[in-house]
This record gives sequence, structure tokens and C-alpha cells, in this order.
Amino acid sequence: MNRDNNIKKINDYPNEWDVIIIGGGATGLGSAVDSASRGFKTLLLEQSDFAKGTSSRSTKLIHGGLRYLQQGNISLVVEALKERGLLCQNAPHLVHHLPFLVPSYKWWEGPFYGVGIKIYDMLAGKLGLEPSKCLTRRQTLKAIPTLAPLGLKGGVIYYDGQFDDSRLV
Ligand SMILES: Cc1cc2nc3c(=O)[nH]c(=O)nc-3n(C[C@H](O)[C@H](O)[C@H](O)COP(=O)(O)OP(=O)(O)OC[C@H]3O[C@@H](n4cnc5c(N)ncnc54)[C@H](O)[C@@H]3O)c2cc1C
Repeated sequence: MNRDNNIKKINDYPNEWDVIIIGGGATGLGSAVDSASRGFKTLLLEQSDFAKGTSSRSTKLIHGGLRYLQQGNISLVVEALKERGLLCQNAPHLVHHLPFLVPSYKWWEGPFYGVGIKIYDMLAGKLGLEPSKCLTRRQTLKAIPTLAPLGLKGGVIYYDGQFDDSRLV
């Protein structure tokens, strides 16, 4: 890909574009793929390099947003879980399953997180990752030996996705 040649081509055909997108991060590239696949002549302009901005510096999670579930935003979680599942299917070389362990120190935390995370699993439907599990105190400490043992009751383990953000872009 030669930038000078591409800029020359743009100048040769200034009125040729149906859609012009500024910024080659995740948003711009996703929009460009969508636009081009619908048959629109699409021009994507990037001032520096693809994924140079935020899209190479995220926490790299492909997640359904467990915290949005706590906020009651079910439709957002369902949509994000569906996208998580599709990405796992479409780009398995870039996305892997990542376990999260939530330790509990109060009697009610185990059932509270356990039920919440089971609902999270259910909302993913057929596109779900590995199912969540409740762990005993001993299993929790075995999984994370550096946890403070005093008062530890157990834990819940669940899965989200992690991906290579700039490569996906
Ligand atoms: C700390 C942090 C953690 C995050 N963690 C996650 C996560 O775990 N999972 C997740 O899904 N999302 C996460 N996000 C959100 C995600 O990273 C962003 O939503 C996403 O990268 C935004 O992409 P973008 O294309 O909108 O912006 P950018 O990636 O910043 O792209 C914008 C592009 O526009 C270009 N540009 C700007 N002005 C011009 C111009 N005038 N002409 C030409 N080009 C221009 C820039 O060079 C840049 O390449 C996180 C964000 C942050 C900040």
C-alpha cells in the first residue's frame, strides 16, 4: 500500500465517492467495511496509520458488559454478547477466552454474583463461551494463591473474550 499513489488516485477522482470516512480506527474501518460491502464507493482517510489511536490501546476485552447487567441495561448486554460470540466465530485466531474470578468475602456475595453471572451466561444463548462455575474457598485460593485468605468464602469464575485489537482493525 503506497500512500503517495493512493493520494494521487484520490485527487484524480475527486467526485467518485459515495461515502467518505475520516479516521482508520475500529469505528472508521468497521464503517468502511460495512459501506463497501453494501456496494458504496468508499474512501477511508487516515492521517497517521490504521489503529494508531485508541484502537491499539484498549484493555482488549470482547465482553458483554457484566456491569451493564447490574445497571439493568439488558438489551445492550444481549447485543454485546452476540457480537462477542460472532467475533469468536469469525476471528478465532485473534480472540481467546479469558477467565475472570470474583472472590466472595461476605455470605451473600456467592449467591448474588453466582446468579448474576448465570443470567449473563444465559443471555449469551448459543453464542456463549464456557459456563460459569461457583468455586469453594479452597478452589478459589488454588486459582489465585495471592488472595487474602482471611474471611474468604469462595468465588465465581466466568468467561469473557480478549482480542488483539490492532490486528483485528
Ligand atoms: C483505556 C481504554 C480501554 C478500553 N478498553 C476496551 C475494551 O477492553 N474493549 C473494547 O471493546 N473497547 C475498549 N475501549 C474502547 C475502544 O478502544 C474504542 O471505542 C475504540 O478503539 C474507538 O475507536 P475509534 O475508531 O472511534 O477511535 P481511534 O482508534 O482513536 O481512531 C481514530 C482515528 O482517526 C484518525 N484521525 C483523527 N483525526 C483525523 C483527521 N483529521 N484526518 C484523518 N484521520 C484522523 C486517528 O489517527 C485515529 O487513527 C477502551 C478505550 C480506552 C480508552
